[in-house]
Amino acid sequence: MAKGTLPTRVLFCTAFWRCPYCNMRLLFYFCLVPWLNHLLRQVPPALVQRTATRELLQIPADSPLPPSCMQQARLPFREGGLELRDCSAMTPATYWSSWADVLPALHRRYPVVAANAVAYLLTPAPDRAHNNECLTALEEARNTLSAAHADLPPWDALLRGAAPPAPPLSDDGEAADPGEWQHGWQYYTTSAMHARTRADLVMAATPGDAARYRSCRGRNNSRWLTAIPSSDAPFLSNPVHQCLLRRRLGMSIMPEADICEGATCQAPLDPWGHHRAACTRTGRIHARRAAALQPWQQVFSEAGYRVRSERLLRDTHLPTTPADNRRMDLVAAPGARAVGARRGMPLFADVTVVSVHTRNGDARPTAATIDGGVMQQAVATDRRKYADVASSSQACLLVLGCETYGRWCAAAISIVRELATLKARQAPPLLRGCARFAWSNRWWALVGVGVQRAVAESLLRHGGQDLVPHAPTSLAPPLADVLLDL
Ligand SMILES: [Zn+2]
Repeated sequence: MAKGTLPTRVLFCTAFWRCPYCNMRLLFYFCLVPWLNHLLRQVPPALVQRTATRELLQIPADSPLPPSCMQQARLPFREGGLELRDCSAMTPATYWSSWADVLPALHRRYPVVAANAVAYLLTPAPDRAHNNECLTALEEARNTLSAAHADLPPWDALLRGAAPPAPPLSDDGEAADPGEWQHGWQYYTTSAMHARTRADLVMAATPGDAARYRSCRGRNNSRWLTAIPSSDAPFLSNPVHQCLLRRRLGMSIMPEADICEGATCQAPLDPWGHHRAACTRTGRIHARRAAALQPWQQVFSEAGYRVRSERLLRDTHLPTTPADNRRMDLVAAPGARAVGARRGMPLFADVTVVSVHTRNGDARPTAATIDGGVMQQAVATDRRKYADVASSSQACLLVLGCETYGRWCAAAISIVRELATLKARQAPPLLRGCARFAWSNRWWALVGVGVQRAVAESLLRHGGQDLVPHAPTSLAPPLADVLLDL
């Protein structure tokens, strides 16, 4: 893609919103966005903006996206967007960050050149002997960033290697996941810009939209958007893919008005799918949860566990009464090759997928004001229901909670991290860091795509129980194949 002609790239860009294929979006993300970022870092903003605003990454004039949807789509995945970056707004940040990252190396290898550049930047414009277009553009980029309240170090501090502040801890306050690296200045400067955009969006949003914005963020919640469909498991069909993207941006997914098929409900449906996602009288929520079990079953199986689904508690080794009809979604017993998470105890997992909206489309309590508030309530409810399992010394209770827009609960994040760390110990010592990242990457793709597909299919199908068919669990791929997906 980087060697393609400009018209080819323009055609590629403008076709994006007209082509629903997830493969097209992945090509866009993995091929065109890095090329564009390289361009933004190398060329002064005034030059690249003319190209960017005229031809590149501009959504066609007949785009149906409302302004708020476009603003959200401009945000990175981690902020709940679709990584359709706004080149015009980003050019000062990327250009200044490129210089900030490279100045220390320039100072070490070519100290005279670096000193001259900094001397030029420290000299007031009227006193300069000549005009250097690149350095003048750099100064203007810094002024633009400073006006946007970014806290930038002086030029001589950058020359001595000033690094950007460490990013804040994640929402759950835990350490970085495998594959997360120390970011450079661009991450810092653009994050400040995106955080302001998102704050403006949330401030102007209705409670229902604010709940959606919060639910679209969170650790690993966007992994389904970057999963490479190298097999059937992480593949999203065109209707499902388009439904998920439209729901993420708050757009309608059902053009024709209808009524709920629940015999005791019969309420009018909304075009955004809120009623279908929350109505308990149709069997759709049960079907969604049943389909969401499958990817978790696959993950535990690949980690070496013997997994059984829909297991009655009275049929397990835990002491209970014969009349106990409670079911665990998954019971994973450590096999001979299991990685032995949670001190090797059997894992009793309950999978729950909750909507942040009510059947009427309103935000549920705390959904618009607390990140993951609805999910935390669902997890607390499950833990009360299985209090005896939670307190047992013969099992470990896992509530694998997720919101319909993708936000995961802390237990889901920690168990995948632990399984990946332990699984990587089976690899040769030199490959363990890479293997940990590869397994974590694969498993988040499996559960992310699997749960999001279950959400979309439970909304799109016409009705009835068991909307989503079960797929058999397959064997874990060899590490060499998992590494290829990195
Ligand atoms: Zn209903």
